[in-house]
Order: sequence, then C-alpha cells, then structure tokens
Amino acid sequence: TAAAPVPGQEALRETALRALRACGVAEEALRVADGAASLSAVTCLTGAELLRVPAVGADDVEGVVDAAHEAFTTWRTTPAPVRGGLVKRLGQLLSEHKEVLADLVTLEAGKIRSEALGEVQEMIDVCDYAVGISRQLYGKTMPSERPGHRLMETWHPLGVVGVISAFNFPVAVWSWNSAIALVCGDSVVWKPSEKTPLTALACSALLDRAIAETGAPAGLHGLLLGGREVGEALVDSPRVPLVSATGSTRMGREVGPRVAARFGRSLLELGGNNAAVVTASADLELATRAIVFSAAGTAGQRCTTLRRLIVHSSVVEPLLERLVAAYGRLPIGSPLEQGTLVGPLVDAGSHQRFTEALERAREAGGEVLVGGGRRDVEGAEDGYYVEPAIVRMPAQTDVVREETFAPILYVLTYDTLDEAIELHNGVPQGLSSGIFTADQREAERFIAADGSDCGIVNVNIGTSGAEIGGAFGGEKETGGGRESGSDSWQAYMRRATNTVNYSGELLLAQDVNFL
Ligand code: NAD
Repeated sequence: TAAAPVPGQEALRETALRALRACGVAEEALRVADGAASLSAVTCLTGAELLRVPAVGADDVEGVVDAAHEAFTTWRTTPAPVRGGLVKRLGQLLSEHKEVLADLVTLEAGKIRSEALGEVQEMIDVCDYAVGISRQLYGKTMPSERPGHRLMETWHPLGVVGVISAFNFPVAVWSWNSAIALVCGDSVVWKPSEKTPLTALACSALLDRAIAETGAPAGLHGLLLGGREVGEALVDSPRVPLVSATGSTRMGREVGPRVAARFGRSLLELGGNNAAVVTASADLELATRAIVFSAAGTAGQRCTTLRRLIVHSSVVEPLLERLVAAYGRLPIGSPLEQGTLVGPLVDAGSHQRFTEALERAREAGGEVLVGGGRRDVEGAEDGYYVEPAIVRMPAQTDVVREETFAPILYVLTYDTLDEAIELHNGVPQGLSSGIFTADQREAERFIAADGSDCGIVNVNIGTSGAEIGGAFGGEKETGGGRESGSDSWQAYMRRATNTVNYSGELLLAQDVNFL
C-alpha cells in the first residue's frame, strides 16, 4: 500500500493554531518574548516545528506550586459534590472541543483520527466518573472494641498534586489525575511532556475557563511547560505531597527515590513489556484482530502495546500466517488521512531505537517475518514512518526483555501452560497481559495468583485499550501505581482514623490500666 501523504507544513500550522484558539489559549501564551525561554512544538507527522511557545525554568516552579497551595487552602473545604461541579463543567468543555483537541493529539503524538478522538473521549469519561466519585469519597466505620466509642476513618484532601506526563498519552493521563485530584480537594500542577506542549496548553485553557465559570479558586491548576529540569524541581518541591509520574522506567527510577527522600508519595506509571499467551484452543480469527491492534496500533507507542506473543507450538504456524498477512496490509502514513491505521513514530531517536532493537534481535537469532523498514511519506522527510515488525525469536533474550517503544512484536513458542506463564512473567516489567483461550481452566489459571504477575490481566482481549472504570497500572518496574477507576481516588487523599469516645469514661484499648 502506498503511504498516505501529509499536508503541507503551513496547513498543519493553521490546524494547530485554529485548535488552540478554539480552546481559548491566549495569544500571549503563544508569543515568546525576546531572549525568553521557549519550547519547540514539533509535529511528528513531518518532524518540523509548528510553533515556538514560552517555557518556564526550574526557578519558576516554586511560584506556581505556591499559587496552587494557596488555592488548595480554600478548595479543601469546598464540599466535594461542589468540587464535582467544576469537573462536570470541564467534561462539558472537553466534549464541546473534542474535534479540535483530537487534531492536536494527532499533530503532536501522531495518533490516527479514531485513536485521537478516543483519547479525548477518555478525558470526558473520566470527568463523568470523577463527578460520580465526588459523592462517594467513602470512609469506613469499624466496630470499636470499647463500649461507647466510635471508630471510623475520614478521607481528606492531600494538597498540591504534581502531574508529570509522557508524550504518548498527552491528554488522557493528565485528565485521569486531574479530574480525580480535583474532586478529592487537591490542586494540580502539570508538567507535560516537552514533546506535546500544544495539547497541554489547550487542556489547561479549558480547565482555566471551567475554574473561572464555576468560581473555583484561581491557581487551582498550574501548567509548567519545560524540560526535565522543570520536572525535577516539581519532584523536589516540599509543598507537593504527591507526585504522579507517567513515563519511562528510567524516569521513575529517578523520581521515586527523590520523592521518597522527602517522605512525599509517588504514584508511578512506567514502562510495560506486555505479552499475550495464545493457547491451542484460541479463536485465531479473534486473536489475530486483537493482536494486530495491540501490537501495531498507535505505531507501538502505548505503554500497554503488545510486545511479546507466547504461542502454543500447535497453532504458531497458522497464527503467524494470519498475522504476517494482516501486517502486510496495514495502511501506514499520515494519521490525518482517513483509513490510515499506523502513523509515525514520535521522533528520530525513537526510530533509531526501533532499528537497533531489530538488529539486536537478528544477532540473537531472531527472524524478521515482516516489517522493520522505514516508509517514505510524501511531504514528511523528517517524519519517521515505519512498518510494524514481527520477529520470531529462539528464546526470550535481553532485547525481548526490554521495552522498545516502537512496533516490534517478538514471537516465542511454548508447550505447557506453566512454561508459557514462566516466559510471560520472566521480564522486569508488569503492566498488561492477555490470554487467548476457549478453555476455562487455562483462563482461570492465567488470572490466578500463580498466573500473570501484571496489574492488568485480560482474557480473549489484547493488552491495550483499557476502560477508565478499572484501576490502571502495573507491577515491578512499571512502578506499582494505580490510576483512574475503582478505588484509585484514595491515592489522592489522606486517611485519618478517628476514635470518638461518647461513654463518659476513659477506657484504654487492649484493656490497659493506667492512672
Ligand atoms: P519519558 O520518561 O522520557 O518522559 C516522561 C515525562 O517525564 C516527561 O514529561 C519528561 O519531561 C519527564 N521527566 C523525564 N525525566 C525526569 C526526571 N528525572 N524528573 C522529572 N521528570 C522527568 O517518557 P516518554 O518517552 O515521554 O514516554 C514513553 C514512556 O512512558 C514509555 O516507557 C511508556 O511505557 C511510558 N508510559 C507509561 C504509562 C503507564 O501508564 N504505565 C502510560 C504512558 C506512557
């Protein structure tokens, strides 16, 4: 298939400016003063700069955190359902601006239209969810061992939540954290990826509007456009009790100990190296579709992207035949083009890591069955469009055990389920996993305590594309954090245990006698 061409740079720039203005981004937020710090907003569609936007330095962080802390002091006593009103308005604004926000997601992160719209929908969904949660910040009441006493817990707002986000979910990750943190009574300071400043400006402007319209305190949300040093200053700030950081394991390895050193809390959402087991009884048609979406979708740039396939030796040949055929038909090219399924990698560094990983896989005895090449796309000389690759490996070698953030699917085979689970869990990361099977015993074993060791364990579904209602996150080097649904809101609050004595006597716990 010929790669779909990319529109001219001027047209892309116009699309970006139109979207930013529609979201209410002020002109001064786009104007860089002479000699002032700035960030280059590049589109990965062409690799060229769209705009240059003002940036902050590490010295500016404390001022933004102070303003957010000040806002927190009134926000924390605002009733939670009233706080929900702010997030409800944010959700409406995101909904009204869904199309233009998706334009920005495509320009900066390279997502195809349906995935860009899907990411914006995720923001809207999480706002709905958070509004519901604003009336359900439940604490438990436990039976006290003493007569005339009440034992209970209350959940209180925590303070300023620092949010550090990755390029590949430039808006969803922010909304997961912010919508929940805001209903929990926290304020938020956001350090987005330096690769996606425009989506951040747009979301931030919409939240500022919701804050103004609902009378919430100004300063409740702060945006820090800047590089890693800005993230580091946020991480070190003593006024930030929780740092929620999404990105590579390398980043988390730095952030976790720094936050811990000042006894702050961190919520880490780091790299994955996700696998699916395909058993002898699997529906190969269903599995093929799920695998292709999970492995090649988003050009392999999801934390939940399927990177390893562990296939029963009796079905490996027919499955690979289907997968190779499907990969050969994948439409690659401009994500703005209707019908494209695979857009670009984010930048040259990402492309280099893709080719290096393939080279290492070959050296380790791997056979590239399909893909691996770079596609020239008209109008995008510095855009990195690649053919998603499938590599059959003789063993789970070092390169297979690492996360390469690009579309490479390594295939291994197994004969017993124990062997498959051992291979599955034999990597440092623990985010998402799946099993394709029609055998209930195999499915149950995979989700049991001695099955998959991941935070997300699916049956007859690929590894990517989680719903917001569940808790999202992973184990081991994925960092252990949980965000979005279920009881993840608790990470954004502090718990107080209260004992109330209404007996008129002083009774000590455990029958202790004193005085
Ligand atoms: P990255 O680690 O390069 O950057 C992520 C963010 O961290 C950026 O905002 C960056 O400026 C900041 N940062 C980097 N070093 C820092 C430091 N020392 N202190 C403070 N901030 C720092 O990641 P990326 O390339 O943008 O994103 C891809 C990675 O993110 C992949 O590994 C992917 O698996 C992971 N990811 C994980 C999840 C998840 O939920 N588990 C979701 C999305 C992406």
